[in-house]
Amino acid sequence: MSRLKILNIWVDPLSREEAIARVSGYLKNGKRPHAIFASNPEKNFSVPADPDLYKVYKEADILLPDGVGVVYAARLLHNRTFSRIPGSEFIFNVCQLAAKEGYGVFVYGAREDVNAGAVKSLRKRFQGLRIVGRANGYENHLDALERINASKAEILFIALGSPKQEKWFSDFRSELKYVKVVQGIGGTLDTITGAVKRAPHFWCRHNLEWLYRLITDPRRISRQKVLPIFAGLVLLEKSKQILGLKRA
Ligand code: UDP
Repeated sequence: MSRLKILNIWVDPLSREEAIARVSGYLKNGKRPHAIFASNPEKNFSVPADPDLYKVYKEADILLPDGVGVVYAARLLHNRTFSRIPGSEFIFNVCQLAAKEGYGVFVYGAREDVNAGAVKSLRKRFQGLRIVGRANGYENHLDALERINASKAEILFIALGSPKQEKWFSDFRSELKYVKVVQGIGGTLDTITGAVKRAPHFWCRHNLEWLYRLITDPRRISRQKVLPIFAGLVLLEKSKQILGLKRA
């Protein structure tokens, strides 16, 4: 299934089942670390601004339809319909697979208390999940790398926020010895422990998680102000398609 270009970024139009089947394939047959990152409107502006980030993002193996903005944009620009897969939920699908198949997991990132709390919560939620190591996100990057390799984990969750986590992967991917799958999970560990609240079901069901986060944490305005700009650019792109200036 081919990747869709949305303005300056890309998204993989996968269902959750297809995405997890890919992850399963990487774990069974992979010979290198495969990256899973999130695609959302904010990335449309941060990715092209940084050459390292651009490269690692473009080369990612899965770009999840994390934000509702990219889902609507794909419908409008490519006539493709698929659902959101928030990275903060996909981690649970990966954990379920890991628990079932016995893969070792390393959880890297966030504050020490948040990291420890999230690991405890994941162990409780997924019976038999082998979390073989963890490191908070403020440790020396090389020390973390050493511990990840020593743990022999096959799955690595990196929660350093974006673009730090993508850059960490760009710097160290060739030195990861056993990891086959890396998911960049941003602030997900904070939501797992409850340090940051995810939107209640109603808001998620109506694709308004972004609005809930904005109301509950108005400091996010600096990041979310790009949302209307993104919507405007998508509409502009659509007008170009209609006028025949661009092919879909
Ligand atoms: N963080 C970290 N090390 C750093 C900077 C940030 O581990 O040097 C963690 C921080 O504690 C938080 C997460 O990265 O848990 C950032 O969350 P945010 O919601 O900003 O990330 P996003 O999901 O938007 O990428």
